[in-house]
Amino acid sequence: MNKIDDKLQPILAEVVSRNAGEPEFHQAVQEVLESLGRVVAKHPHYLEAALIERICEPERQIIFRIPWVDDAGNVQINRGFRVQFNSALGPYKGGLRFHPSVNVGIIKFLGFEQTFKNALTGMPIGGGKGGSDFDPKGRSDAEIMRFCQSLMTELHRHLGEYTDVPAGDIGVGGREIGYMFGQYKRLTNRYEAGILTGKGLSYGGSQARTEATGYGNTYFVQAMLETKGTSFDGKRVVVSGSGNVAIYSIEKVQEFGGKVVACSDSSGYVIDENGIDLALLQEIKEVRRERISEYALRRGEGVQFIANGSIWDVPCDVAMPSATQNELSGKDAHTLIKNGVIAVGEGANMPSTPEAVRIFQDAGVLFAPGKAANAGGVATSALEMQQNASRDSWSFDQTETRLAAIMRGIHDRCYETADEYGAPGDYVLGANVAGFVRVAEAMRALGVV
Ligand code: GLU
Repeated sequence: MNKIDDKLQPILAEVVSRNAGEPEFHQAVQEVLESLGRVVAKHPHYLEAALIERICEPERQIIFRIPWVDDAGNVQINRGFRVQFNSALGPYKGGLRFHPSVNVGIIKFLGFEQTFKNALTGMPIGGGKGGSDFDPKGRSDAEIMRFCQSLMTELHRHLGEYTDVPAGDIGVGGREIGYMFGQYKRLTNRYEAGILTGKGLSYGGSQARTEATGYGNTYFVQAMLETKGTSFDGKRVVVSGSGNVAIYSIEKVQEFGGKVVACSDSSGYVIDENGIDLALLQEIKEVRRERISEYALRRGEGVQFIANGSIWDVPCDVAMPSATQNELSGKDAHTLIKNGVIAVGEGANMPSTPEAVRIFQDAGVLFAPGKAANAGGVATSALEMQQNASRDSWSFDQTETRLAAIMRGIHDRCYETADEYGAPGDYVLGANVAGFVRVAEAMRALGVV
């Protein structure tokens, strides 16, 4: 694996010391800086005007109290975050995550990743991220609504079509976006569809947005497999998670002829050698909001639910980690390789630990980092913004065709950039460098701001 260039080492040291106790943020910065040695060797001007230091420092960080009343009449308090990371390419853009693990370091890592991801899409969007340590699990619909309304009561003053445009992430789907949009509209008395993406189709949402991240990751992995003269057809696939990224990855993999044999949630994983029954999974997860063990119970004979252990023990040709950060360890990577994995596509943000990434790359496994492979979601958010700005709405096919072309473009940009910088087949380097150069060029043009 690349070591950090001597000229960049002090930048990482500064990030670590100024952002104490934020290991995920350090990890995300380190991973990008490891790729930039080759860039500054070729183009030393990127070391000027503290450009890289500025890229590592969010433009603005907002932290706020979210008080709300639960169904029992008790007052609950959560913490809300919005990190507006970089606006060189466009308004801040990135999701909101509701999960008890959320803290400022997690949101900063996500905002940092988002900046490069969004740059890679080629669309005019900057990077941001937000969310709350609110745990939606077990909360009633009315509690979710009151929480979303309270969050938006503060957040609305920081948003705008030209300023900052959130969307969903873990724990935030169509229902939550609807409640937040409703509160924004009420507070401002303006129907500004372009202030949030991931909206429902009845109030300004885009076709294919829900499917986009999972579909996009599948398109990306298919493009990687093609470089080796193969495809998803007949492959055994494991997709971790069972949220919207996992579900629509499973759908597209099945359409491409692959067989998905396992998926998971935070309570465990299921193995279904007949191939995952997508309709059943959707009913359990999207409609009934139940645990994954319910899938094994309902599907019956031959389907196993495993509460402890790692989904990466399940042998497969292609692994698509689509749950959360650092869910795939070095040990998991060794197991997957031993079992014959040939490709990994990250549907989640930073799901593989740095050790796992190194192990995959050393073994010659095709490895697609999340900031490239899962960019289909935010790219389709940018298409939603485009439709809102022109007061138009496109068909599913038209939108999916655009998404497929964007993913092909991202794949090719990463592949070609890796070649250009002397690291053929290294999609991590390709993604980091191509994303960085686009942001850096804009930042240079805009001066020290
Ligand atoms: N949360 C998604 C991501 O990680 C989507 C963000 C968006 O659509 O703005 O890219």
